Amino acid sequence: MRRLHAHLALEAEARSKKDRRAIIKLSGVFHMLLAEIAGNSFIEKLMSELCPLTCLIIALYDAPQTPACPEGEHVHIVEAIERKDTEKAIELMLKHLNHVQSELRLGVAREPDVDWDCMFS
Ligand SMILES: [Zn+2]
Repeated sequence: MRRLHAHLALEAEARSKKDRRAIIKLSGVFHMLLAEIAGNSFIEKLMSELCPLTCLIIALYDAPQTPACPEGEHVHIVEAIERKDTEKAIELMLKHLNHVQSELRLGVAREPDVDWDCMFS
C-alpha cells in the first residue's frame, strides 16, 4: 500500500504540473506496479510488454484534455484494494479500462508532442 500511495502522489504531482508525458508514463507504471504487487509473474511479464504499447497508443490517439488514465480513478481503485474490497476493485478496474479505451480517437492521430526517447527510457 505504501508503494501504491507513493505512486499516486507522483501522479497527482504530474497532473498538477500538467506534464502530459509524465502523466502518460506514470499511468502505465501504475498498472505495472499493480501487476508486480499481485505477485503473478505471468501477468507482470504481460503488463511489461503491453504497457509501452498502450502508452504509445494513448499518446497518439487520446482525446485532448483527457491524457491517459482518467483523473481520480487510480485513487478509487487503490482505496478499494486498501479496504480489501475485491469485487469493488475489479469493478472499478474494468470501468477504468473502458474509460481509457473510450477516450481514444483511433481515426485521428494527434500531432506528435511527446519525446519518445524520454518516455520509454
Ligand atoms: Zn490506469
